[in-house]
Order: sequence, then structure tokens, then C-alpha cells
Amino acid sequence: MLAESELPSEADDVAHPHCDALIIGAGFSGLAALYELREKLGLSVRLLEAGTDVGGVWHWNRYPGARCDSDSFVYCYSFSKELQNDWEWSERYAAQPEIQRYLQYVADRFEMRRDIEFGTRVTSAVYRETSNEWVVSTEDGQTFRCTYLISAVGPLSRVFKPPFEGMDTFEGDLHLASQWPEGPVDLAGKRVALVGTGATGIQMTPRIASVAAQLTVFQRTPQYVLPARNFLLDAGKQLEIKSTYDEIWAQTRRQAFALPIDDTKRLFSDVNSANRQRLMERAWELGGFRLIFEAFADVMTDEECNQAVADFVRNKIRAIVADPETAERLAPKNKLTRPQLGHHYYETYNRANVSLVDIKADPIESITPKGIRTASGEYEFDVIVFALGFDGGTGAMTQMGICGRDGQSLEEKWEAGPRTYLGICVDEFPNMFMVFGPQTCFANAPVISERASSWIAKAISHMREQGHRAMEPTPEAVESWVDHVAEVYYGTAYKHGKDAGSWLVGANVPGKPIAPQLYVGSAASYFDRIEQEVDDEFKGFTFDGQARVSR
Ligand code: NAP
Repeated sequence: MLAESELPSEADDVAHPHCDALIIGAGFSGLAALYELREKLGLSVRLLEAGTDVGGVWHWNRYPGARCDSDSFVYCYSFSKELQNDWEWSERYAAQPEIQRYLQYVADRFEMRRDIEFGTRVTSAVYRETSNEWVVSTEDGQTFRCTYLISAVGPLSRVFKPPFEGMDTFEGDLHLASQWPEGPVDLAGKRVALVGTGATGIQMTPRIASVAAQLTVFQRTPQYVLPARNFLLDAGKQLEIKSTYDEIWAQTRRQAFALPIDDTKRLFSDVNSANRQRLMERAWELGGFRLIFEAFADVMTDEECNQAVADFVRNKIRAIVADPETAERLAPKNKLTRPQLGHHYYETYNRANVSLVDIKADPIESITPKGIRTASGEYEFDVIVFALGFDGGTGAMTQMGICGRDGQSLEEKWEAGPRTYLGICVDEFPNMFMVFGPQTCFANAPVISERASSWIAKAISHMREQGHRAMEPTPEAVESWVDHVAEVYYGTAYKHGKDAGSWLVGANVPGKPIAPQLYVGSAASYFDRIEQEVDDEFKGFTFDGQARVSR
């Protein structure tokens, strides 16, 4: 909570530029918001970005093997037909350099860079009720004023730093996957340790194994990894995509995870056992997330179905991995929730230069000058790579010094977990909007970001048309969304995320309250819900400070 005297004074305003909307973050979300607010609403917009270029998570996460796990032709914007016709994705799953090139192309094509300040990290954003403005300060000493504050910092941008003792004693090279150096990192012929087997570690494993003399993977909880089955998009496939783009987007907007596949309506109990096996084999061969969306409709909600699909994957691991002990270590014990996609992940453990250490059974005690000490002994390395994930969901937003009405900080507001309306707005934080904020829908990100940005533009238009200066959700609307997010999360197999220590409930960060960080219901139902709010003329909101409550 800021004291009254700490609230930014109006006396200094002349020195500080004002814009209608200030966006934080130049990833998929920030650029979508910039397009909506500037091109469609004609607002004056400033975008502040800590990195040196556009890209957001794709600017920072340049580790070997970094690749998207949504089909590239829907991991992009749909707001411009010309853009989608001109851009050609080279592979089914685009790699990090190609995704960043795409966002650079978008920024150049729509002349976005003129409104972006790179290398500018926001250190505070304070709402000042007297002038109905947000006053935003940056690390390099700049101050901006704006009417609408748009956070587009992403759910996975605050890095979870390795918590191990002795980090600074290591004599070799240490790298964090999500802060990978821009220059070359030579792993050829080196003894490399990789700690962490989430989506990031799973992508790095085959790539590091192919160059290192020796790769030792330190795994705490095994994951379900489905084959991605990447391929090049040849001229025929490009033509097919471009000629059916409208149908592809329509299909994507109906699908649970906003992917270009059809959700099946088939229940596990509808199918006999021989056909169940056939359906799972088919989905496995087609690759991607088909095993959880296309084989049966009730993988996340029916215990028997979840168990059967989980057993299917465990048996695949046993069939692929030659060493039975390694196969058992790789086989997940928890329920199947959102699996990861791998590119020859399990096959990599058949290489002679790759080994797996189970750090649940043999925990890491410290980093030593020579390598890693576990309870059972010391391993020596030239390079240690950490892929320990993020303080996901709330992490990036609560570190920015955001204070709403009366100086109340977002950190205080979210002390017991995120509290938002639709993952977009927060009560007592008037005119603050989030693109892909906590409690938004966990699905194919650019599709969500685009929809949320367009929703924000509609909300601002509504205010302007009705002559309102400010809007914020009612505490009751927030309460109902928080309850709904929890009800959906704990009503599905996702509830076992806590046991697996998932970032989805904040369980990976010591001391963080356990609460769902994202909405895990279907994207289609989320889109319906937010559009309903528009149709209902934003009935979950109050305008011009009417929601003011005394605390
Ligand atoms: P993550 O899923 O949180 O995985 C972190 C890994 O580090 C886990 O194996 C975790 O073990 C381990 N770990 C964490 N703290 C540890 C500790 N103190 N000691 C030992 N091990 C520890 O992080 P991530 O792999 O970066 O992925 C995060 C999210 O980013 C994913 O869920 C996905 O949404 C996104 N992502 C997407 C892509 C893509 O599109 N292809 C690629 C990368 C990431 P436990 O499981 O036991 O906690």
C-alpha cells in the first residue's frame, strides 16, 4: 500500500507525456493490443518493452530446441487477411527464430515500432483517482501518464531462479533456459547437466544430446510426452491452409485449446476395448495433442478414461526406451493433464551419451565447483543448464509495482491468489486491462491474446460511447469468476497439478499461495463468456468509480 504522500503528484505532470493507452510488453499480446487500440480505435498508444526487440517470451526463450507446440498456421494473428496470406510458415511447429521473425515482420508491416520503447522496464504503475490516470515509471527514470493501462506481460515471463546452494562456486558455465545468451553457446563435446523436465527441458534434451559428449538429465517429476510429429509445410500444404483459412480459424475458435482440430463428442464408455486401442494408436501417430482431444471427450473428466490413456502413454514409453529402469523412471505416476509435446524425446534416452537421474529419490543438495551434488554423490560437468520454469500467472504482474485505488498494490490484492474478472480486469484497479492475465483461458496463446485485445477495445469503445471515464468490475463479478475458475480446475484431472507441483496453481514457487493461475475450461466457452459480457453491456462492471468501497 502506498502512503498518500507517495502517490504521484499532479504538479509534475507537465514534464510527463500523456497517451490514451499505455501497453506493457511487446509479445503476441502487446502487439495485438497495439493494433486494436491504435488501428481500430485510433487511440494514442505507447508500448514499453524491457527487451531489445519485439517477441516477448519468444525474445527471451532462445534455448536450443525452443519451438512452439501449437500448429504454426494458428500460432499467429488472424486480424489481417493480407498478413496471413503473405506470411509463410515453414514447419508444422515453428521454431523460436521463425516466430520472432514473424513478430518482427508484423511490427514492421504495421509500423508498430514508432510507438514502442525498447529496453524500458516498468518499475511502477499507480492509479491517480483525482485525474483518472495511471502514472507509470520506468527503470531508466522516465514517467508516463495514460488513461488506460494495458498489461501484456505474459503468464510465463518471470523466471523461477535456481534455488540451489553453491551456484556461484561452479567453475564451468551455468545457463538458464529462459535467459539463453544471444550469442553462440558451444556445447559440443562437453559434459552437460540439464535440470528440469518441463516443456522446456523436454525440448532441449534431444538437441543437447546430439552435440554434447554426455548429457545427464535431472528429473524430479516425469511428464507425459506425446510425439509432436513435425513436418515441413510444402507448397501444397501452404495452398491448402491459405485457401481454407476462414474454416481453420472457425474450427480453432470452437476447439477446447484453440487448436485446428475437432473435439470429439465420443465418450470412453461408448467404445469397446479394441476400438479404444485403435483410436489411441491413431491419435499417437497423427501427433500433437490429438490423444487428449480427438480420441475421447472425457480424458480430463472421467477417471477410467484418464487411467486408460495414461496407461497407453506409459506402455509407449516402455516400448520406446530400451533400458527398463530408465523407462520406469520416465513413466509418470500422476494423472494425465496437459501433456507435453516431444521431438524424439523418449528415443533420446536410448543414446549411449544420455543418462537420467531421479532427483525425487536422490535430491540435489548443492551446486559444487565441479558440478552437482545429490544425496548419493557428486556428478562432474562442464556446463549446467537449468530449465526450472517460471513464477507463472501472477508472477510478472506482481513485480511491477502496480497500485490501484488508494495505493493498494496488486501484490496485496492477490495475496491469496489471483482475483480477476474474466482474466482481464481487477476491481479497484480502474481502467487497467490485462491481455493474457492471470485467470484467462489456458489455450493457444495468440488466439486468446487477439480475442482479449479485441474485447478490451470494445470495452473502451463502450465507455467512450456512453461518456464514461473509467470502468472496473464489481467485487461480486470478480468473486464469481474466481469461484468459476476454481470450480473448473478442481472439477477436472487438473486438480492433480498440485501434487505434480505445477506452476498452474503456483505450487512450484515456495511460499506462493495455491490457487489456479489460469482458467482451464474450454477456449470456446471462454470466448462465449467474454462476448456475453459485451452483449450484456458490461453488466459485471461499474463505471466512474461507483464501485468504490471503503476498506
Ligand atoms: P515447468 O513446466 O514449470 O517445468 C520446470 C521443471 O523444473 C520441472 O521438471 C520441475 O520439476 C523442475 N523443477 C522446478 N523446481 C525444481 C527444483 N527446485 N528442483 C528440481 N527440479 C525443479 O517449466 P517449463 O518447462 O519452462 O514450462 C513452463 C510452461 O511454459 C509450460 O507449461 C508451457 O505452457 C510453456 N512452454 C511452452 C513451450 C512450447 O510452446 N513448446 C515450450 C516451453 C515452455 P517438477 O515437475 O517436479 O516441479
